Amino acid sequence: MALKLFNTLSRSIQEFAPLAPPKVGMYCCGPTVYDFAHIGNWRTFVFGDLVRRYLEFKGYAVTHVMNITDVEDKIIKRVRENKTSLREFTGKYEAAFFEDLKTLNCLLPHHTPHATEHIADIIALIEKLIARSIAYKAADGSVYFSIEKYRGCGCTYGQLLKLNFDEMRAGERVKSDEYAKESVADFALWKARVPEDGDVFWKSESLGEGRPGWHIECSAMSMKVLGESFDLHLGGEDLIFPHHEDEIAQSEGATGKPFVKHWLHGAFLLVEGKKMSKSLGNFFTLRDLLAKGFTGREIRFSLLTAHYRETFNFTLEGLRATREALSRIGTFLHFLLELKGLNEAESDSELLAAFSEALDDDLNVSKAWGVVFEWIRKTNRLIAEGKLSKQEAAKCYATWIELDKVFGIGGTVEWLYPKEAEKRFLGELLEDREAARKAKDFKRADAIRDELKAKGWGIEDTPKGPKLKKI
Ligand code: AMP
Ligand code: ZN
Repeated sequence: MALKLFNTLSRSIQEFAPLAPPKVGMYCCGPTVYDFAHIGNWRTFVFGDLVRRYLEFKGYAVTHVMNITDVEDKIIKRVRENKTSLREFTGKYEAAFFEDLKTLNCLLPHHTPHATEHIADIIALIEKLIARSIAYKAADGSVYFSIEKYRGCGCTYGQLLKLNFDEMRAGERVKSDEYAKESVADFALWKARVPEDGDVFWKSESLGEGRPGWHIECSAMSMKVLGESFDLHLGGEDLIFPHHEDEIAQSEGATGKPFVKHWLHGAFLLVEGKKMSKSLGNFFTLRDLLAKGFTGREIRFSLLTAHYRETFNFTLEGLRATREALSRIGTFLHFLLELKGLNEAESDSELLAAFSEALDDDLNVSKAWGVVFEWIRKTNRLIAEGKLSKQEAAKCYATWIELDKVFGIGGTVEWLYPKEAEKRFLGELLEDREAARKAKDFKRADAIRDELKAKGWGIEDTPKGPKLKKI
């Protein structure tokens, strides 16, 4: 079945159709390395990882690009406050970002271009826009993108969202990288050097001393790696305007070609229903959560339970609740491995087809998890009844390995033997035996008793009911 995704550009669900299949060029706006990434950022990055993994699952050859924003307004401010150098400051947070990426089991993007390493490409792109009269130099030496000139070429500013130009005065400018759609105006491509920038500036013969604006960085780096037109561009919903709109304008203004075919935006993560903020005490970096005893696996799983276009209400309680589901998976895998022994088998194509059908539907993760947990429940029952053969266990295990290529929750041995998971599973067996006895299904009750015995557990009847006893 074909993959369908919501394209912000058309504001509708569309069949994903890359320009040159099976190749897919995918660009995800990466971190601004001025602090540790927070759980909201991670929602978006894990979403990007899911998209890439699912495209690969479907057989696409994905080139995944994620930029590192290592020079922009906020970074320069922090460098100044911390009296440090740009490289030293961003280096620390960049290293932390890559460590965190690993903790969350996100695949490393194939390219991670840095803005500071692409200054020449950025300058060349600005020069192209100047040559086409779409960009101009202002009195202070900064270079701006002219929305009026761009629209005059027949191009549309406001492709990702509707904008009201009636109130806009031609030539009005905004220098900051971040602004609301109410203050739409010519935006900065190159910011002329000012004393507050310290030694963060580059020399350009054509543009003068200065530094790039944030938006042009992504246009230059994405086109450099993926070409002037590519398939998929992704980020959090806050980037729709102005960042992504400006990326489209800069790129299409310079090349005259359509920039990106499919735009995907992930909804925001809230904490306890509120926007995260340090003053509310609900601001969590990944590291804060690890320090509270949560694992990368639990956090990843939690982030992957919500649909990407729905606001995700993150709570510590919700995160704790993931343990039960993960323990169910752990137990399942533990017994599959034990049963399959050295047997190997092909995966279950029917199960994988049902899983894939769910994800084809605009990445409906709830439906996909539903398929997975229903399958686990049924298989656990067969195991408990002693009805799953070694070969079937091998097939189930191979199936898990395949579907976990998408979810990345774990198939690694160290995740498969959680002690509490085993206890839980044994407890479930005991309950099943009791239920069978009550239903006078003694054959089944005996089969469960034998299974427990084979695992080294006997059943002792006590006044409080049957208890497990190690034999
Ligand atoms: P930044 O490092 O601020 O440039 O953000 C990196 C990514 O995180 C961007 O794609 C943002 O859209 C995304 N992002 C920021 N805050 C949140 C949030 N609360 N929930 C989801 N995504 C977010
Ligand atoms: Zn970007």
